[in-house]
Amino acid sequence: MQRFATTTRDLAHDALTSLADGVTLVDDDARIALLNPRAEDLFDVRASEWLGADVDAFYHALAKNAGGEFLAERFEEYAARADELPGFEFTLRAPSEKVIEAKWFALRGKENGNAYGVLWRDVTRDKQVDAMKSQLLSTVSHELRTPLASIKGFATTLLRQDVRWDEATQREFLRIIEEESNRLEELIDNLLDMSQVEAGALRIQREPVQLRRLVREAVDNAQRLTEAHWFVMDLASELPRVWADPRRVRQVLNNLLENAIKYAPNGGQITVTCEVENEFVITSVADQGEGIPRELLERVFDRFFQVDGASTRKTGGSGLGLAIAKGIVEAHGGTIWAESETGQGSVFRFSLPIVKESDLLQNQFNE
Ligand code: ADP
Repeated sequence: MQRFATTTRDLAHDALTSLADGVTLVDDDARIALLNPRAEDLFDVRASEWLGADVDAFYHALAKNAGGEFLAERFEEYAARADELPGFEFTLRAPSEKVIEAKWFALRGKENGNAYGVLWRDVTRDKQVDAMKSQLLSTVSHELRTPLASIKGFATTLLRQDVRWDEATQREFLRIIEEESNRLEELIDNLLDMSQVEAGALRIQREPVQLRRLVREAVDNAQRLTEAHWFVMDLASELPRVWADPRRVRQVLNNLLENAIKYAPNGGQITVTCEVENEFVITSVADQGEGIPRELLERVFDRFFQVDGASTRKTGGSGLGLAIAKGIVEAHGGTIWAESETGQGSVFRFSLPIVKESDLLQNQFNE
């Protein structure tokens, strides 16, 4: 029996030590009896320094990196009523910004008196997911509504019994309906791609690819979209083939070229370069537009991120293109990044792996 009790105690101790949430146990005299490793990590404190210390001092130390005095008082109030109040969330600023959910619970053992515990759970990720979901809903509804309103408007107009539209007008209305339907289709495709990227389920079918051909095609298509820009290609004469999914690479190139056109609205030169670096071919698309502030260079690859939400909304777009491009490039084992100074144009670069002997063998094997 004794042995059993010891084992249970050890197990309970090990469980607290291995728990993914932080735990603080406070004894009957309001002194810290346990601070598990996760709590040490979350708050960047050492258990050895706090064991036996007054818990109020601990609350004040935590509150310094969060809501200040007011928060320390709130901790104390919840601790005093551990049995009644469920808990609350607060934002911790250091060692890194996190949202922590704190829950107090009374310890009910016979000899525990006023002893209690606190569970600290890092809910930062949940909060981000929540924020992303609301952003998704608002973007999707806004982006779907605009083309839908125009499709509906022009269809209703065409169907009016009391007006006869001449053929040219009818065709113009139908052309708008077609264009707006394409926009809807593109947005839905983007959302589907994004959800595959997020689930780590983006399907890519690799084969040896001649980048030179893909780049030429993409540039020809892009040139058809604009009269204000001219394109210059600077492709190394001996470009090795890359190990990639041509459809997906086309998607990345189209996105970068369309962005260059969209965000350099005054026209100018767009330069596409391919060069070899170690085991990769690096493709760059450079424009002469406004550029991107340095501190936002990484964020443009976040889903839904737009440097200037209001003005880019006008040009259309959901802020998903670069996030998908990043997912595609990374699924190939490459990287994508941007370089820019405000007012000096932007350069987007991505790398794709050069075909290796082993890739080809693998390919034959699969066929
Ligand atoms: P979208 O174009 O649909 O907004 P993207 O993911 O393709 O979405 O781009 C995200 C944001 O990055 C854009 O809204 C824009 O603010 C910025 N951006 C992208 N490419 C460029 C560029 N070539 N020059 C300046 N800003 C750019």
